[in-house]
Amino acid sequence: MSEPLTFTLDGQAIPFTPGQTVMQAATAAGVYIPHLCHHVDFDPIGSCKVCSVRVKGRLMTSCTLPANAGMVVESETPELQADRKRLIQMLFVEGNHHCPFCERSGNCHLQALGYHLGMQDTHFVHEYPHHAVDASHSDVWLDRSRCVLCELCVRASREVDGKNVFAIGGRGLKTELLVNSPSGLLKDSDIAATDRAMSICPVGALMPKRQGFIIPIGQRPYDQADIAQHPEDT
Ligand code: SF4
Repeated sequence: MSEPLTFTLDGQAIPFTPGQTVMQAATAAGVYIPHLCHHVDFDPIGSCKVCSVRVKGRLMTSCTLPANAGMVVESETPELQADRKRLIQMLFVEGNHHCPFCERSGNCHLQALGYHLGMQDTHFVHEYPHHAVDASHSDVWLDRSRCVLCELCVRASREVDGKNVFAIGGRGLKTELLVNSPSGLLKDSDIAATDRAMSICPVGALMPKRQGFIIPIGQRPYDQADIAQHPEDT
C-alpha cells in the first residue's frame, strides 16, 4: 500500500487527498486554522484573508490553497496570529459590533475570533458607520453595520435556498449587502427565517426575529469553549 500524501503544517504531518485544500485537510485532521468567510459547506472565496498561511515565504489563503505533497505550511506563528488579530480589529471598527448588547454574543464568529486571537481592544479608531437596518420583514431582520461581507448568505441563498436574495454592492467603505427585491427591502424578497442564508451568517447581521435571547448569554457555544473547539460550526 502506498504512503498517504502529506504536507507539514506547523511541523505536524497532515494527510490529504488530491483536490483538498490546506484548510480542508487541516480541518479533517482536527487542526484549526482561524477563518471567517470560509464554511465547510461552501466553495471558498478567500476574501477575508484571516486564514492566510505562509508557504515558501509567501502569504496564501489556506481555504483556496490546494494541498501538495511535501508542502511546508506555517500558520500559528506569532506574526501570522498578529496579522489575523489586526484583521479582526479592523472588522470591529469598520462595523458596529457592540458585543455586550448584541443578540449574537457568544455565538458570533467575529467575537469568538477576537477571543481566540487574544484581542484586548480594537486598536484602531472606530468608524461607527451608518448603514441601513432592514426590519421590514415579519420574521427576519438585517443590520448592515454588523455585516462583515463574508458573502456566506449570498452563496447560501443562491446555492442552497435557490432564491438569490442577496448580493454585495458598492465600493470601498460603502460596500454593503444588497437585498434582491423590487423595493430593496427584505419584506418584498423571498427570504424565510428557515433559509440556510439566515442560519449561516457568522455575526449578528442577519437575525431571525423574536429568538435573540432564547439561549441565555453565557450558555452559548463560544461562551463554553474556544472557537477552535467548534470545527463543525465553521
Ligand atoms: Fe456574511 Fe452575514 Fe454579511 Fe451575509 S449578512 S455577508 S452572512 S456577515
